[in-house]
Amino acid sequence: SLILGLESSCDETAAALVDSERRILAHRVAGQEAEHQPYGGVVPEIAARAHVDRLAPIVEGVLADAGVTLAAVDAIAATAGPGLIGGVMVGLVTGKALAHAAGKPLIAVNHLEGHALSPRLADPSLAFPYLLLLVSGGHCQLLLVKGVGDYRRLATTIDDAAGEAFDKTAKLLGLGYPGGPAVERIARDGDPQAVALPRPLVGSAEPHFSFAGLKSAVARAAASGEHRVADLAASFQQAVVDCLVDRSRIALAACPDATAFVVAGGVAANGAIRAALTDLAARFDKAFVAPPLWLCTDNGAMIAWAGAERFAAGLTDPLDIAARPRWPLDAGAEAVRGAGV
Ligand code: ATP
Ligand code: MG
Ligand code: FE
Repeated sequence: SLILGLESSCDETAAALVDSERRILAHRVAGQEAEHQPYGGVVPEIAARAHVDRLAPIVEGVLADAGVTLAAVDAIAATAGPGLIGGVMVGLVTGKALAHAAGKPLIAVNHLEGHALSPRLADPSLAFPYLLLLVSGGHCQLLLVKGVGDYRRLATTIDDAAGEAFDKTAKLLGLGYPGGPAVERIARDGDPQAVALPRPLVGSAEPHFSFAGLKSAVARAAASGEHRVADLAASFQQAVVDCLVDRSRIALAACPDATAFVVAGGVAANGAIRAALTDLAARFDKAFVAPPLWLCTDNGAMIAWAGAERFAAGLTDPLDIAARPRWPLDAGAEAVRGAGV
């Protein structure tokens, strides 16, 4: 079957056509760097308005790229949360309108399930259950992915997400927005040992995360004026690597039945993090799976693919399903009806 996927939960407006054979017939992503750059971060109202402007042309674009019309599509998948609610509503309402007009079923996708299942789009051999490190702008979690809609959360962050830490650190180092790629770029010229920084929660028994103290320590080190920006960035990135590796090590030890160790979400685009996690997986004799870089950050293909997996499982949603600003993955990916859009 052929699924149209829509994504608008943060600052990427995206759509894709993906089929159940994992073929990506078309995908388009429009970022909003220019709009948010002056503010050093995503401004929700500006994001929502940008999605309004861009989503329809992007949907028309992917249909044209693939040379199909809506009649050829079997279902329409749209992110229904979690995320910035204005943006989520734009994508979900567009999905509902297209589904209604074309007489196709709607699939309300949890954005985190999009990230969680995206490695299976790229790697057909990846089987359930797998241990997932989900590291994105708003989340930092370790999950046992047991099946579609079936997640056990082993750990989460007690304060900031990993991507949030990258973004805040980039801002305080004057590297601009979006922060993760900027930090990674300048860290290549720095010494990861140059600045002594904390590794919050490393060594604790539960594999939870914490990054707020690390960011504050970077701020203090930067204010001292004793360090090069490249050294600060490299030392920060190394501290994040050490935290992610240590916490994942605890989870891997607790999940001997996991078929693989998988990383997904925007921060999974970071080369230093990918390299360290590859080594960790090898130590546990697990296959390491990470989606290609473009599939790590927000995109429509991951939503279309999660839609394809849910469609294959017979999971579609009513048109009165609500958009959800918060939607934990382990609360079940089930519909909430009749509240909101
Ligand atoms: P969520 O998925 O939690 O709702 P989001 O959709 O905003 O949040 P993603 O698009 O998955 O998050 O990821 C964006 C985050 O990834 C940003 O915080 C960004 O700084 C970070 N990121 C992107 N590329 C890199 C990189 N190369 N190194 C580190 N972080 C990166
Ligand atoms: Mg983004
Ligand atoms: Fe995301």
